[in-house]
Amino acid sequence: MSFTLAIVGRPNVGKSTLFNRLVGKRLALVDDQPGVTRDLREGAARLGDLRFTVIDTAGLEDATDDSLEGRMRRLSERAVEMADACLFLIDARAGITPNDTLFADILRRSGKPVILAANKAEGRAAEAGLIEAWELGLGEPLALSAEHGEGLAELATRLAPMV
Ligand code: GDP
Ligand code: MG
Repeated sequence: MSFTLAIVGRPNVGKSTLFNRLVGKRLALVDDQPGVTRDLREGAARLGDLRFTVIDTAGLEDATDDSLEGRMRRLSERAVEMADACLFLIDARAGITPNDTLFADILRRSGKPVILAANKAEGRAAEAGLIEAWELGLGEPLALSAEHGEGLAELATRLAPMV
Protein backbone atom coordinates (compact mmCIF):
# COMPACT_ATOMS: atom_id res chain seq x y z
CA MET A 1 0.00 0.00 0.00
CA SER A 2 1.42 3.34 -0.96
CA PHE A 3 1.31 6.41 1.24
CA THR A 4 -1.85 8.38 0.47
CA LEU A 5 -2.14 12.15 0.72
CA ALA A 6 -5.56 13.82 0.55
CA ILE A 7 -5.70 17.40 -0.73
CA VAL A 8 -8.59 19.07 1.06
CA GLY A 9 -10.00 22.57 1.25
CA ARG A 10 -12.98 24.62 0.14
CA PRO A 11 -13.69 25.11 -3.57
CA ASN A 12 -11.39 27.35 -5.60
CA VAL A 13 -8.31 27.26 -3.38
CA GLY A 14 -6.32 25.38 -6.07
CA LYS A 15 -6.64 21.71 -5.07
CA SER A 16 -7.05 20.41 -8.63
CA THR A 17 -4.27 22.63 -9.93
CA LEU A 18 -1.93 21.08 -7.39
CA PHE A 19 -3.27 17.58 -8.03
CA ASN A 20 -2.61 17.98 -11.76
CA ARG A 21 0.88 19.27 -11.10
CA LEU A 22 1.69 16.29 -8.84
CA VAL A 23 0.06 13.68 -11.03
CA GLY A 24 0.55 14.99 -14.55
CA LYS A 25 -1.00 12.47 -16.93
CA ARG A 26 -0.67 9.58 -14.51
CA LEU A 27 -4.30 9.90 -13.44
CA ALA A 28 -5.85 6.65 -12.35
CA LEU A 29 -9.61 6.33 -12.54
CA VAL A 30 -10.87 4.63 -9.44
CA ASP A 31 -14.44 3.75 -10.39
CA ASP A 32 -13.79 0.08 -9.64
CA GLN A 33 -12.67 0.66 -6.08
CA PRO A 34 -15.31 0.28 -3.39
CA GLY A 35 -16.19 3.41 -1.51
CA VAL A 36 -14.69 5.73 -4.08
CA THR A 37 -17.11 7.88 -6.03
CA ARG A 38 -16.49 9.99 -9.10
CA ASP A 39 -16.23 12.92 -6.72
CA LEU A 40 -12.85 11.74 -5.50
CA ARG A 41 -9.98 11.56 -7.95
CA GLU A 42 -6.93 9.48 -7.19
CA GLY A 43 -3.57 9.64 -8.94
CA ALA A 44 0.05 8.53 -8.71
CA ALA A 45 2.03 11.55 -7.54
CA ARG A 46 5.67 12.39 -8.08
CA LEU A 47 7.40 15.07 -6.09
CA GLY A 48 11.19 15.05 -6.33
CA ASP A 49 12.20 11.55 -5.23
CA LEU A 50 8.89 10.91 -3.49
CA ARG A 51 6.21 8.62 -4.92
CA PHE A 52 2.80 8.46 -3.32
CA THR A 53 -0.94 8.38 -4.00
CA VAL A 54 -2.82 11.66 -3.98
CA ILE A 55 -6.57 12.23 -3.65
CA ASP A 56 -8.38 15.32 -4.93
CA THR A 57 -11.87 16.16 -3.73
CA ALA A 58 -13.66 17.19 -6.92
CA GLY A 59 -17.34 17.38 -7.71
CA LEU A 60 -18.10 20.32 -5.44
CA GLU A 61 -18.09 22.86 -8.20
CA ASP A 62 -21.71 22.34 -9.20
CA ALA A 63 -23.16 22.22 -5.70
CA THR A 64 -25.57 24.99 -4.77
CA ASP A 65 -24.78 27.20 -1.80
CA ASP A 66 -27.36 25.31 0.24
CA SER A 67 -25.86 21.90 -0.39
CA LEU A 68 -22.23 22.92 -0.50
CA GLU A 69 -21.39 22.72 3.16
CA GLY A 70 -22.84 19.26 3.70
CA ARG A 71 -21.37 17.82 0.52
CA MET A 72 -18.03 19.38 1.24
CA ARG A 73 -18.02 17.93 4.70
CA ARG A 74 -19.01 14.40 3.62
CA LEU A 75 -16.61 14.26 0.67
CA SER A 76 -13.73 15.65 2.63
CA GLU A 77 -14.33 13.34 5.56
CA ARG A 78 -14.24 10.38 3.17
CA ALA A 79 -10.99 11.59 1.57
CA VAL A 80 -9.44 12.16 4.98
CA GLU A 81 -10.48 8.69 6.09
CA MET A 82 -8.71 7.13 3.07
CA ALA A 83 -5.55 9.16 3.63
CA ASP A 84 -2.42 8.70 5.72
CA ALA A 85 -1.97 12.47 5.85
CA CYS A 86 -3.78 15.57 4.62
CA LEU A 87 -2.65 18.62 2.75
CA PHE A 88 -5.02 21.40 3.74
CA LEU A 89 -5.09 24.23 1.22
CA ILE A 90 -6.28 27.73 1.85
CA ASP A 91 -6.17 30.70 -0.54
CA ALA A 92 -3.49 33.08 0.73
CA ARG A 93 -5.02 35.91 -1.30
CA ALA A 94 -8.47 35.50 0.22
CA GLY A 95 -7.34 34.94 3.81
CA ILE A 96 -9.25 32.69 6.22
CA THR A 97 -12.96 32.17 5.49
CA PRO A 98 -15.62 30.43 7.64
CA ASN A 99 -15.38 27.37 5.40
CA ASP A 100 -11.63 27.20 6.01
CA THR A 101 -12.35 27.12 9.73
CA LEU A 102 -14.85 24.30 9.16
CA PHE A 103 -12.18 22.28 7.37
CA ALA A 104 -9.63 22.96 10.07
CA ASP A 105 -12.07 21.44 12.59
CA ILE A 106 -12.70 18.36 10.42
CA LEU A 107 -8.96 17.83 10.05
CA ARG A 108 -8.20 18.35 13.72
CA ARG A 109 -10.87 15.82 14.70
CA SER A 110 -9.51 13.26 12.23
CA GLY A 111 -6.29 12.93 14.18
CA LYS A 112 -4.38 12.55 10.91
CA PRO A 113 -1.16 14.49 10.26
CA VAL A 114 -1.98 17.79 8.54
CA ILE A 115 0.22 20.02 6.43
CA LEU A 116 -1.33 23.47 6.13
CA ALA A 117 -0.49 25.22 2.87
CA ALA A 118 -1.42 28.75 1.83
CA ASN A 119 -1.76 28.51 -1.94
CA LYS A 120 -1.67 31.35 -4.48
CA ALA A 121 1.25 32.63 -2.42
CA GLU A 122 3.21 34.02 -5.35
CA GLY A 123 3.73 37.77 -5.01
CA ARG A 124 3.05 40.25 -2.22
CA ALA A 125 -0.77 40.02 -2.29
CA ALA A 126 -0.43 36.80 -0.32
CA GLU A 127 1.59 38.04 2.65
CA ALA A 128 -1.35 38.93 4.92
CA GLY A 129 -3.11 35.64 4.21
CA LEU A 130 0.00 33.70 5.03
CA ILE A 131 0.21 35.34 8.45
CA GLU A 132 -3.55 34.93 9.04
CA ALA A 133 -3.21 31.19 8.36
CA TRP A 134 -1.46 30.74 11.72
CA GLU A 135 -4.87 31.40 13.34
CA LEU A 136 -6.12 28.01 12.18
CA GLY A 137 -3.93 26.42 14.84
CA LEU A 138 -2.44 23.84 12.49
CA GLY A 139 1.16 24.94 12.72
CA GLU A 140 3.35 26.84 10.33
CA PRO A 141 1.65 27.45 6.97
CA LEU A 142 3.63 26.43 3.95
CA ALA A 143 3.67 29.07 1.19
CA LEU A 144 2.66 27.40 -2.04
CA SER A 145 1.88 28.38 -5.60
CA ALA A 146 0.36 25.40 -7.36
CA GLU A 147 0.03 27.39 -10.56
CA HIS A 148 3.62 28.62 -10.64
CA GLY A 149 5.19 25.56 -9.04
CA GLU A 150 6.55 27.43 -6.02
CA GLY A 151 6.97 25.86 -2.58
CA LEU A 152 7.10 22.32 -3.89
CA ALA A 153 10.60 21.62 -2.54
CA GLU A 154 9.41 22.69 0.91
CA LEU A 155 6.33 20.49 0.52
CA ALA A 156 8.63 17.56 -0.33
CA THR A 157 10.71 18.28 2.78
CA ARG A 158 7.57 18.20 4.95
CA LEU A 159 6.29 14.99 3.34
CA ALA A 160 9.57 13.08 3.23
CA PRO A 161 9.46 11.80 6.84
CA MET A 162 5.91 10.46 6.33
CA VAL A 163 6.13 8.81 2.90
P1 GDP B 1 -10.15 23.77 -6.54
O1 GDP B 1 -11.60 24.15 -6.66
O2 GDP B 1 -9.68 23.87 -5.11
O3 GDP B 1 -9.83 22.46 -7.17
O4 GDP B 1 -9.32 24.92 -7.31
P2 GDP B 1 -8.73 24.90 -8.82
O5 GDP B 1 -7.48 24.09 -8.88
O6 GDP B 1 -9.82 24.59 -9.75
O7 GDP B 1 -8.28 26.44 -8.95
C1 GDP B 1 -9.19 27.50 -8.78
C2 GDP B 1 -8.64 28.76 -9.44
O8 GDP B 1 -7.44 29.18 -8.76
C3 GDP B 1 -8.23 28.52 -10.89
O9 GDP B 1 -8.59 29.67 -11.62
C4 GDP B 1 -6.72 28.37 -10.82
O10 GDP B 1 -6.09 28.74 -12.01
C5 GDP B 1 -6.38 29.29 -9.69
N1 GDP B 1 -5.12 28.93 -9.00
C6 GDP B 1 -4.72 27.69 -8.61
N2 GDP B 1 -3.49 27.73 -8.06
C7 GDP B 1 -3.09 29.02 -8.10
C8 GDP B 1 -1.90 29.70 -7.67
O11 GDP B 1 -0.95 29.14 -7.16
N3 GDP B 1 -1.89 31.07 -7.86
C9 GDP B 1 -2.93 31.73 -8.42
N4 GDP B 1 -2.81 33.06 -8.54
N5 GDP B 1 -4.05 31.12 -8.84
C10 GDP B 1 -4.13 29.78 -8.68
MG1 MG C 1 -11.09 21.01 -7.99
